[in-house]
Amino acid sequence: MELIRAWVNNLNANPTTLIDWPKIGASPINEYVTLGLLDMAFIALFPDGRCHWLEPRMRQVHLHEFVKHLLRYRDHRFGKHPRFRYFMMNMIMRHRAQNSSAAFAKRNLQDMPITINELRQHMENIPQSNLADRLIRFGTTLRGTRSYWAKCRAKLTDMLHQIDTPTIFFTLSAADMYWPDLHALMLGTSPNTSREAQNWRKKNVIDYPHIVAHYMHLRHTIFRKEILEKGMNIKDYWCRYEWQHRGSPHVHRFLWINGAPNMDNIDWSNEEEQKSAERYFHSIIHAWNPREDPHQRNIHAFQNYLQHPCLKNTTELADMDIDHDYEDILNYVERHTVCKEGVCLRKKQGRMVCRYNAPWPLNLRGSKLYEDIETGEKKIEPTRNDDRVNSHNRHILQLWRANIDWQLVLSKYVVIKYIAKYAAKAEKSSETYHQMLMHLSEMENPDDLAARAYRRLLTETVIERDMSHAFRASIDGEQ
Ligand SMILES: [Zn+2]
Repeated sequence: MELIRAWVNNLNANPTTLIDWPKIGASPINEYVTLGLLDMAFIALFPDGRCHWLEPRMRQVHLHEFVKHLLRYRDHRFGKHPRFRYFMMNMIMRHRAQNSSAAFAKRNLQDMPITINELRQHMENIPQSNLADRLIRFGTTLRGTRSYWAKCRAKLTDMLHQIDTPTIFFTLSAADMYWPDLHALMLGTSPNTSREAQNWRKKNVIDYPHIVAHYMHLRHTIFRKEILEKGMNIKDYWCRYEWQHRGSPHVHRFLWINGAPNMDNIDWSNEEEQKSAERYFHSIIHAWNPREDPHQRNIHAFQNYLQHPCLKNTTELADMDIDHDYEDILNYVERHTVCKEGVCLRKKQGRMVCRYNAPWPLNLRGSKLYEDIETGEKKIEPTRNDDRVNSHNRHILQLWRANIDWQLVLSKYVVIKYIAKYAAKAEKSSETYHQMLMHLSEMENPDDLAARAYRRLLTETVIERDMSHAFRASIDGEQ
């Protein structure tokens, strides 16, 4: 380490100096006391060897604030670096795990094993001990861990019991290759030709995932406050951000709308009540393509990139005919034109079917809401003249300006199914926390403090999380 330190110090004076790859020592570097760890590990990011995380400061700065500051640095080199964000996210999560386990130990000092030896005896003698579970519950603030998701699931379950069945489940995707406000935040300006402009935006999305993630968070927050809360008269909401493999974000959201019919309470023998619900849902769920040309149907036609409606800024939109804009955006982003293997096609009973059930049956006779007498399942068929138009809400689509999926919540069961699916996603490990803590205690020295094992258990739950690069870049994003 001294060798690297000396080399870093000498770098400005003699930038061509080369050093041999240093030997790897037996004991890991202690990140809590090693001054200049970051500038030695990421020399290209800290070329003059300054800006130590551990240097004395006038006031306390938390690690996540320090990282946020670096991600916002004017040349974006920290956000752009392919490994720095992973390294820092991991460090932040481990530090938080350490703090949580320390707080747990402090609060439960009276009734918990102090040394590893005592812990081993405790785990062996009391198989039904809830020590590990209590510790894990303490880690609910550690985002992305099993206990964190368990807390989010519990919140949704509580809302389902207390407010009742939500009205709408929807997904907002990001038009991250188009939104002009997003690319205005990037370095440089867009080239004029279609292909070059497309490549420039594509590169921006790959190079600056932290800007995309933060922009998505801001856009979604403003959208919620200004459009959903003020325009849709919503009672409550629950949401979750997800990042696809390549890092493109989307938001899943349940909405409870004031005055909306509750699908679980409709009296199906009362025709007037059923018709009234049908009229309500007809007004908020749309699947009608206003483009009358039948040749446009289900054709993956060439579309000019520079004409894409998601590239339009607010001034251009203000000058546009609102119906023309709707027709454009619907046909550009809201049609599920092609089903592809690896994207939406899944094997079901020996044949490949679209996971979104496209193409959808046409319905030219008006929205229909009914209960299947045989299965008891409730169903909705929105008015539809195009079997490839995704179900959406016209106003939300035009205001959000990217693909949306907008579905009526047909029963409480749909939400319970979502919660179960979501639980399966978070809980990959089959080992119980009790078993994990037992294994960890066996790996430690019997005379050491048990706090080491507690810390490692929380750290393990941090490690098992699955993160895309954009997720790590959105350290402070709402979950
Ligand atoms: Zn499909």
